[in-house]
Amino acid sequence: MTSVVLKDIRKSFGSFEVIKGIDLTVETGEFCVFVGPSGCGKSTLLRMISGLETSSSGQIVIDGEDVTHAEPSKRGVAMVFQSYALYPHLTVRENIGFGLSLAGRPKSEIAEKVEKTAESLQLTHLLDRKPKALSGGQRQRVAIGRAIIRNPKVFLFDEPLSNLDAALRSQMRMELTDLHAKLGATMIYVTHDQVEAMTMADKIVVLNAGRIEQVGPPMDLYNNPVSPFVAGFIGSPKMNLYDGEVAAAEGCTTYGIRPEHLALSKSEGKWQGQVRHIERLGADTVVYLDHPTLKQIVARVPGDFEIVSGGVVHASPMSGKEHRFF
Ligand code: ATP
Repeated sequence: MTSVVLKDIRKSFGSFEVIKGIDLTVETGEFCVFVGPSGCGKSTLLRMISGLETSSSGQIVIDGEDVTHAEPSKRGVAMVFQSYALYPHLTVRENIGFGLSLAGRPKSEIAEKVEKTAESLQLTHLLDRKPKALSGGQRQRVAIGRAIIRNPKVFLFDEPLSNLDAALRSQMRMELTDLHAKLGATMIYVTHDQVEAMTMADKIVVLNAGRIEQVGPPMDLYNNPVSPFVAGFIGSPKMNLYDGEVAAAEGCTTYGIRPEHLALSKSEGKWQGQVRHIERLGADTVVYLDHPTLKQIVARVPGDFEIVSGGVVHASPMSGKEHRFF
């Protein structure tokens, strides 16, 4: 059992409370992603789990053991950073084996484990290079190798792919998912990229200003966001939000419709807008409309959809696809 349990975790820097009471269980073997806007507290929470940051109050339990006040090295966790944090003067082989050397493990054991780890990450041919002679993706794999070799109970990733270009990020997403399947380890992953969250997570935790806004599997959050905040964060382009009148007793309420759930028509529809911008992505086309009260309406239509910039079109929510937020 290598679950991670957070009980009413809080953190203040001076008088500024950045983590405001988090209760969460990450199950054994789960790939859990913390997502949220810049400054919401994702990294602070991860650093508290790792022990690099102390908690102001609450309890952290890893593998059934209370580690709230334990040293980072005693928690059975390994952390992978955005910056890779490799030693520039050491080779890939020495970087991967560094933790074991420090722990005084026999040379033969280190050599064997480094070979095995390098093989699993396709780094064998790079073992004698220094980090500066590696690509960003290769460096990140070395950083992951350094974590794997320690055989941790829990892997913690802090935005590990944000220094990579789009193509490499997509490849590394797949590699990390494969790695997770192969190791079966509990992984907690911080990102502000909703694509990473959607594609890799078993469970997404959406954080907003130090609190959990919603927790669930990616498609649950996509289909049933509990708030406009979650709706705006999961799914790209963002969900369209608008106010709607309901029965007099209930007053005004917020509605949402995803861009892919809007039907465009030349002749009729709920909203009439002017086409401001068209993004042809290939398989899809994203259309931005100006509207007097909604300001902007975004629709996602098939790639070959006929539409011209500056023209007038009508947009309507597809039946049963509107979200209502209270
Ligand atoms: P980002 O996506 O930009 O990395 P984040 O969600 O990871 O953001 P944190 O880095 O956890 O956010 O920071 C949360 C808040 O705590 C921010 O307002 C930040 O300025 C503040 N903060 C973080 N570390 C410290 C510190 N050592 N001292 C004071 N304030 C801090």
